[in-house]
Amino acid sequence: MIEVKNVTKKYGKAVAVEDISFSIKDGEIVGLLGPNGAGKSTTMNILTGYIEQTSGEVTIEGYNTLKKPKKAKQQIGYMPEGVPIYTDLTVKEFVTYMAELKQVGKKERKEKVEKVIKQTGLKDVENKLTRNLSRGYRQRVSMAGALVGEPKILILDEPTVGLDPKQITEIRNLIKELGKTHTIILSSHILSEVSQICNKVIIINKGKIIATDTPENLENRVNNNNCIYVTVEDTESKMEQIKDKIKEIKRIELIQENEDKTKQYLIEAEKDVDLRRKVFSELAKENITIFEMKKADTTLEDAFMKLIEGGNK
Ligand code: ADP
Ligand code: MG
Repeated sequence: MIEVKNVTKKYGKAVAVEDISFSIKDGEIVGLLGPNGAGKSTTMNILTGYIEQTSGEVTIEGYNTLKKPKKAKQQIGYMPEGVPIYTDLTVKEFVTYMAELKQVGKKERKEKVEKVIKQTGLKDVENKLTRNLSRGYRQRVSMAGALVGEPKILILDEPTVGLDPKQITEIRNLIKELGKTHTIILSSHILSEVSQICNKVIIINKGKIIATDTPENLENRVNNNNCIYVTVEDTESKMEQIKDKIKEIKRIELIQENEDKTKQYLIEAEKDVDLRRKVFSELAKENITIFEMKKADTTLEDAFMKLIEGGNK
């Protein structure tokens, strides 16, 4: 359980994070989502006790980060932004060093290091210097460093930045797997990533939280409409009349005319209408040929932009 109450962080006069509050329950995978400079890293650094807030309170598993910093820190495995690992150590040496820092007992250290090396898929490269590893593997090493010592909570700052698509998939799968046994907070500026991995999203912009919800609900909050795109060949220009034929249609809008004379329309109807079926049979009756038909979903991307725009007003 993490509780953040009215936390503000100022750098001189500049406010990096302003009066944010949220709580995270055990077992949740939470995405801190926002554009660059939103305050994600600042928030994470405060949670981990790496920097102190200007005002407000943070408790980690009941331990106040300012009053019981050592206890609070023990609950957390932190993977900072940009993979700051010692490149003149081997994988095993680095993870062992992290275990020492976290005061993992000498007797059990070897076994615990071994365990996280396996867990993060590093067994094959454990004796290589980290500087000779690919970016994806270095990310895993950083993850292993966060995991050692068996913290309940993992805080991962932009865990997939700079990785190629294959590495991104691997790291995401690893995070999902770790999510079964840990509470996880990760930051990202990528919406699809957060919706794939997380069950809760906190959207932050310009140091303020502008929404907290499940990825599904965030989409629903802005997605009350039922829209499709159809591309048709409508030689007799009968498309406009379709609106009168299907009573549930609220709007038909010409989106574009293509070079091959086909036209794309946006059709909007009331919610819960099976628009595609109705439009298909009506256009067939009118001899209008359908070249393409697709659902126009409001994506999380749209939801995010709307929320951010709303927040700026
Ligand atoms: P994010 O991780 O979301 O990209 P940050 O938390 O790094 O955002 O930064 C939030 C704001 O705080 C930015 O405007 C940034 O310039 C500012 N900031 C971050 N760290 C410092 C610092 N050490 N000194 C002054 N300003 C900082
Ligand atoms: Mg950051």
